[in-house]
Parts: sequence; structure tokens; C-alpha cells
Amino acid sequence: MTNRINNFNAGPAALPLPVLEQIREEFLDLNGSGMSILEISHRSKWFDKIINEAIERTKRLLKLGDDFQVLFIQGGASLQFCMIPMNLSLENKPVDYINTGTWSTKAIKEAEAQGKDVRALASSEDRNFAYIPYDVKEDGRAAYLHFTSNNTIKGTQWTKFPDAGGVPLICDMSSDIMSRPFDASPFGLIYAGAQKNIGPSGTAMVIIRKDMLDRVPSGLPSMLKYSTFAEKNSMFNTPPCFVIYTISLVLRWIEETIGGIDRMDQINREKAALLYKLIDSSGFYKGTADKDSRSLMNITFRLADEGLEKKFIAEALEHGFGGLKGHRSVGGCRASIYNATGIVQVKALKNFMADFEKREG
Ligand SMILES: *Cc1c(COP(=O)(O)O)cnc(C)c1O
Repeated sequence: MTNRINNFNAGPAALPLPVLEQIREEFLDLNGSGMSILEISHRSKWFDKIINEAIERTKRLLKLGDDFQVLFIQGGASLQFCMIPMNLSLENKPVDYINTGTWSTKAIKEAEAQGKDVRALASSEDRNFAYIPYDVKEDGRAAYLHFTSNNTIKGTQWTKFPDAGGVPLICDMSSDIMSRPFDASPFGLIYAGAQKNIGPSGTAMVIIRKDMLDRVPSGLPSMLKYSTFAEKNSMFNTPPCFVIYTISLVLRWIEETIGGIDRMDQINREKAALLYKLIDSSGFYKGTADKDSRSLMNITFRLADEGLEKKFIAEALEHGFGGLKGHRSVGGCRASIYNATGIVQVKALKNFMADFEKREG
């Protein structure tokens, strides 16, 4: 076995070891096909089973009814920033956005570039996005209300979703999908770049409520229409087969090894509590997000002596802890502890941090 580090990367991020081992195990001969996943036809019975398994597991794990459809669309979460206003805005209605950081800002920009009537309903920009603006007032006039459930870069997360009063919610769940249970019924669309919590990069998972498909303008190019993907089970053209295969294995791991989303949520809470407890009880480290807004997925923090951060990150790496540097736009430190990062790795990081404080504090 090669040496694997404790991976706290923000994305692409750690995958569950049993999933990687299974990929290796069946790599040369997938399910008796005599081919690898990289070589089989997306029209084959083997791939059909894989994509449908990924869809069925998504629906079971998130308790989605048959009014929802699960799609896989290349272009990552960023293409969804464009497709959402393109497909789901309505004549003479504004589109509402909540701005909680870098990714929400980008989503807003794409709607504005299309000339949509964008209303910024709430924002936490005044304090560098260190909190969630829970006080949202939706007047019911919008085509949809878009928000980002977990702000990967700033380390904040909605603990309770905004009330859109009947307007369909649209959510970028790239960095916390499948990490906790939620009620999908107020949502018109949910999307997630796969490379944080459910797989490798190369696709976005898009969960769309079927009635939203009625909004898709007929004049759009085929590859930019949700209806194209919905009608062809995400196989209008060649899908990213390897990515979807890995997603199906990750979802199987969540369902069968972990025991479902509720258990996943419990583990994620335990993991985050370990690190926040250390950060809160120390004058050496300090959290950057408000307590009622902080993320269970991305723990952002600084060292009280910011001059020590470079040393902290370098020594951590020497001890086998990777990915702790904060996003280049904000600096500081960040430990991303998605589903695949185990409690053992988080405990080891906590011990390293306590030890570093003892030496340097
Ligand atoms: C990483 C990330 C994105 C960007 O995803 P791409 O797949 O690279 O386009 C968007 N939103 C959030 C919340 C993210 O964490």
C-alpha cells in the first residue's frame, strides 16, 4: 500500500478509500464485461446499470419523490450558474439571489450577463462574508430564489434554509450535498459539482423538479437545455462515464457502509465539533466565521500570529496533513472535512494542531 496523506483538500477532494480500492479491483474487467469503465460504451447494459444506480441511490438517500429527476451535466457547477437563468427565468419576473461569497457572486454575475432582472435579496459582503444573512424577505414575485448552501471558501453554511414563501428555491450544494438530510420539497433545482462530496471532477449533479422543465425556452441550443438531459437520461451525448461510475460507488458507500444520510450527518457533526472545540478553546487559533453560520464541511481559521501560518501549513504537510492552505483569495487556513474524510484523520489533525500550539504558542 502506498503512503496516503490525510487529505483536507477543498476540491477535488478525498474519496472514500474503499471506493478507490473497488475501482482498482474491477478496473481491468468491469462486471464481467472484459473492459474497463474507460472503455465501455455508454449505450451498453453495464453503463446503463451504473447510471441508473447512481440516480436511484440519489433519490433514496435524499428522499426525493418521483416529481424530481436526477441529471448529470458536464461543465461543473459553473455551467449551472449560466444554465439556471437561461432555462428557468420567467418573462417579466425578477430572479432573486442571496450573496454569501465567491460562488454566489459568480452565479449572480452570470445572470446579470444575460440581462436578467437580478435582485440581490440579501448579502453578507459587509463583513467579508463571515456570516449567513438569515433574515431574508422574499416578496413572492421572483421566478426563483438562488442561494449557496455551503460557502466552501469562506467556511459558512446555512443551518436553516431561507423561506422563499412558495417561490422555487435553487441551491448550489456543491460542497455539502449528501452531507446532511434536508426537505427537498421547496426546491425547484439543486446542483452540485461532484468533486467536493460525491466524486471526481467532470460533472455536476443536477436535481430538477419536473415542472421546472416547462420553463425551458425552446430556442436554446440543445446542450444548454435541461429538457435535453431530462429526455435522454443524461445521455444525449457521451456522458463522463468514469465520473458517474465513481459517483455511484460513493453513493453506495454512503448508503451501505455508512448507513445513510442521517448517520453521515452525525459523523460530520462530530468531526467539525472536534476542530471547532480546539479552535474556540485556544487563543492561538481563531475561527473566521460567526458561530451560528459556520460550516461543518470547511473549517476556516487563522493563527492569532498570522506570521506563523506558513510554518503551520508546511509542518502540517511534513506530518502528512495536506490541503490546509486557505483559498488564495482569502489566505489563512482551511481544513475541508467532507464525507470521505474520516473521524480518525480529523482526530489526528486536531492532535497535530494542539501539539503545534504547545511548541509555538
Ligand atoms: C467548487 C465550487 C463551485 C465551482 O465548481 P466547478 O465544478 O469547478 O465549476 C461552485 N460552487 C461551490 C459552492 C463550490 O464549492
